[in-house]
Amino acid sequence: MDRIPHRSWVEVSRRRIAENFHAVRNLVGPRVEVMPVVKADAYRHGATEVSKILVTEGARWLAVSSVEEGVTLRDAGIGARILVMADFLPWEREALIEYSLTPAVHSLEQVRQLDELVTETQTPFPYHLKIDSGMGRLGARDQSSRIAAVVSKARHARLEGLMTHFASAASYASNQTDQQIALYRKTAEQLAAAGIRPRYSHMSATIAIAYGRREAWGSMVRPGHAIYGYVSPVRGEAPKRQLHVTPALEWKAAVVQTKQVPAGTPIGYGAMYRAPKSMRIGVLAVGYADGLPHRLSNRGNVLAAGKLAPILGAVSMDLTTVDLTETPTVVAGDAVTLLGQSGDHHIDAQQIARTAGTISYSVLCGISARVKRVYL
Ligand SMILES: *Cc1c(COP(=O)(O)O)cnc(C)c1O
Repeated sequence: MDRIPHRSWVEVSRRRIAENFHAVRNLVGPRVEVMPVVKADAYRHGATEVSKILVTEGARWLAVSSVEEGVTLRDAGIGARILVMADFLPWEREALIEYSLTPAVHSLEQVRQLDELVTETQTPFPYHLKIDSGMGRLGARDQSSRIAAVVSKARHARLEGLMTHFASAASYASNQTDQQIALYRKTAEQLAAAGIRPRYSHMSATIAIAYGRREAWGSMVRPGHAIYGYVSPVRGEAPKRQLHVTPALEWKAAVVQTKQVPAGTPIGYGAMYRAPKSMRIGVLAVGYADGLPHRLSNRGNVLAAGKLAPILGAVSMDLTTVDLTETPTVVAGDAVTLLGQSGDHHIDAQQIARTAGTISYSVLCGISARVKRVYL
C-alpha cells in the first residue's frame, strides 16, 4: 500500500463533481438553470476547488449560506453569480454589495432596507425573495398584494428571483410539498398579475430534482447533496429516481500502531470493548475531532486492504481502534478507508449516518478542517 503524507485526509474526485453536475443539467434540461450549492465549504469538499470545477463545467450560479462564504469565493477569483441563502446580518450588508453577492431576502422590511442601502450606487441591485410556503423557517409570509406593493416601490433593489424551500421533500407519505408548491405558485401568479415576473423561480433541492418533481423545477434548481454524489432515500410511494450520481469523496486515515493483544484485553475509554480472543488491533490517526462520529463507537467499520475492519471500543478525540486480525498485511503507516471503496467493499456517508443515527449531510459536513483535502 502507498505511503501517504497525512494522518487523515479526504480525496475529492474532480471528475465526479463534474459528472454529477452534468447529470443534474442533463436531467433538468437546458431551460432550467442549475445553481450548485457550495455552502458549508461545499459540504466539506472544499468550496473554492469545487466552485472552480463547476464554473469550468459551465455553472453560471453558485449558492452559499453566508456573506463570508461568498467573499471567500470572490477572493479566490470566482466570477459566477453567487446567491447568499441563509440571510445576512446588518454588519454584512456592505460586503454583500462590495463583493457583488446576490442576497436571498426574507422579509419585505429587508427589501426596503436593501433598497435604501443601494440607493447611493444608483444602479439596479438584484435580489431573490424567499417565500415561506410552509417550511416555517426563513421567508416572507405576506399577502401577495403587499409583496407586490413593496417590490414595485423599490427604486434600485430589483427582484430577480422568487424562491421557496421544501420542508418534507423526502416524504411522499405527506402532502406538505404539494401544499407548498400550490401556495408558492399562487403567490407567483398573483405577483405576475401585478406585473412582477422575476427572471428566476426556484424551489427544488436535490430530492425534488432526483425524483422528478418537475412542477417544482421552475427556471432554476439548487442541488447540493447531488453534486457531491448523494440522494437521500425517500419515504412513501415515490416515483422512480431519475438522477444517478456517484459520491465524489473518499476519506482515509493512517494506521499509527498495530499490535497483538491477548483475550480479555479492554480496548479504549470506558473499556467499551474487551477482546474475546487474541486479536491484532490497529490504532488509526482519526477521531471525533476529525468528524468521525462518536456514535460509531463499537459499531462502525472501516475498510482495511479491501476487508471490513470493525471499530473496537470508543471512538476517541484523535484516535480510533479497529480490528485488523483479518488483515495481517496492514501495518503502521498504511492507509485505511473510512468512507469510500476498497476491494469489493464500499462505505458511504449514508451507511455511516445510519449506523451513527444521523444523516449523511451531517456526516459530510462533520469532516473537520483538520482533515487534509487532496484533489484527484
Ligand atoms: C442547502 C440548501 C439546498 C441544497 O439542498 P440539498 O438537499 O443538499 O440539495 C437548497 N436550497 C436551500 C435553501 C438550502 O439551504
